[in-house]
Amino acid sequence: MKKIVIIGAGFGGLNAAKILCKNKKLNITIIDKKNHHLFQPLLYQVATAGLNESDIAYPIRSIFRNKKNVTVYKETVIDFDFNTKTVITDSNKHSYDYLIIACGAVENYFGKDKWAKYAPTLKNLNHAQQLRNKILNAFEMAEKTKDDNEKRKYLTFVVIGGGPTGVELAGAIGEMTRFTLAKDFRNIDPRLSRIILIEAADKILATFDDKLINKAVRNLESLGVQVWTKSMVTDIDEKGVTIGNERLESATIIWAAGIKANPLSEKLPGNKDKMGRIIVNKDLSIENYPDVFVVGDLAHFEQNGKILPGIAPVAMQQGKFVAKLILAELKGKKRTQFKYFDKGQMATIGRSKAIAEIKNLKLSGFIAWITWILVHIMYLTGFKNRIFVMLQWAWSYLTLKKGARLIIDD
Ligand SMILES: Cc1cc2nc3c(=O)[nH]c(=O)nc-3n(C[C@H](O)[C@H](O)[C@H](O)COP(=O)(O)OP(=O)(O)OC[C@H]3O[C@@H](n4cnc5c(N)ncnc54)[C@H](O)[C@@H]3O)c2cc1C
Repeated sequence: MKKIVIIGAGFGGLNAAKILCKNKKLNITIIDKKNHHLFQPLLYQVATAGLNESDIAYPIRSIFRNKKNVTVYKETVIDFDFNTKTVITDSNKHSYDYLIIACGAVENYFGKDKWAKYAPTLKNLNHAQQLRNKILNAFEMAEKTKDDNEKRKYLTFVVIGGGPTGVELAGAIGEMTRFTLAKDFRNIDPRLSRIILIEAADKILATFDDKLINKAVRNLESLGVQVWTKSMVTDIDEKGVTIGNERLESATIIWAAGIKANPLSEKLPGNKDKMGRIIVNKDLSIENYPDVFVVGDLAHFEQNGKILPGIAPVAMQQGKFVAKLILAELKGKKRTQFKYFDKGQMATIGRSKAIAEIKNLKLSGFIAWITWILVHIMYLTGFKNRIFVMLQWAWSYLTLKKGARLIIDD
């Protein structure tokens, strides 16, 4: 029985496992340091009290409960022995015939790791819960302080990074201040909060069409978000952010400015790019190791002269490709090359506000927002999660309220 080990049950690993497990002659081991698959595109909604943690995560064990040939281990992979084809974890060793590495990316502070303390990022459920605490606590602190400067600091929210995550976060905080929290306080008016989205480049959402970017900027402004482009952050401390000569005092700074390869990449052979991603072969295997594949955010794959972006559809297609390649190879067929099929891109700014680019079709406003909703519901894991998320979105749409406004910090 061939043994296939998959590291990481994110978008890449999960999609590979779902195909491979259909072949009962294969023995599949999934190793993940978390016990759940996480739908990262909706993390910002947990951080801004729109959804609960369990709405966007699903236990890996539960996904494969009826697949007897799949074993799941909650372990952290720390090293490899490629000569003996062994994966080494914090508590175990696993041998393999084929290995799929899909352990994703981590936050990138571009060498300024001390900023992490003051400007937390959003990559997992812990981060989302901490951010939610921080955002909601800022309003609580503003409500009780008598000092105007302190009040201003608590009601200033700075989001660094104008990609889809930064835009979605800034828009969601804007919506919270304008609608959800507007009537809940007595000593402050949350509608007067400052929300600043900072981007070093000359535009936000750089991969989108310029007209759509302009619409997104107008949508953000309508929610009270100021968009500062060409603004390079030069320092961050416990009291705020410095951008060249400019100083912003803020109690809530969020880092959404970049990612780099999972540190496990240091244990992998072959060429790497400057973000630490593994430069993979055309069949997604590692140089000199045809039985080891890297998929998703950890892989550097070029197509038509461009590096594929670190997004869920790339990871999903790569995971599926490798699974099918292994199945075909076991039947004696020759390997093929991976080719990414680009279905388009989208970003949401808030209620009825989104932009979407699907081939030559450029959508904005309500229709783009509905498209965004349908796509996200479709890819969410678990029937219960789909229903719960739909219901919460419908409820929020009708009432402008957000259901998960809990501060959980002892
Ligand atoms: C806040 C946020 C918003 C995003 N929004 C979008 C979006 O709107 N659209 C989009 O297409 N993409 C979005 N992305 C990107 C998308 O989520 C990633 O491209 C995708 O998750 C990559 O899939 P992956 O399988 O490579 O890694 P991941 O999905 O990150 O999965 C990696 C898995 O590996 C596990 N792991 C990591 N290290 C170890 C280890 N040492 N041992 C064991 N297990 C390990 C992790 O626990 C995790 O389960 C977003 C990402 C974030 C963080």
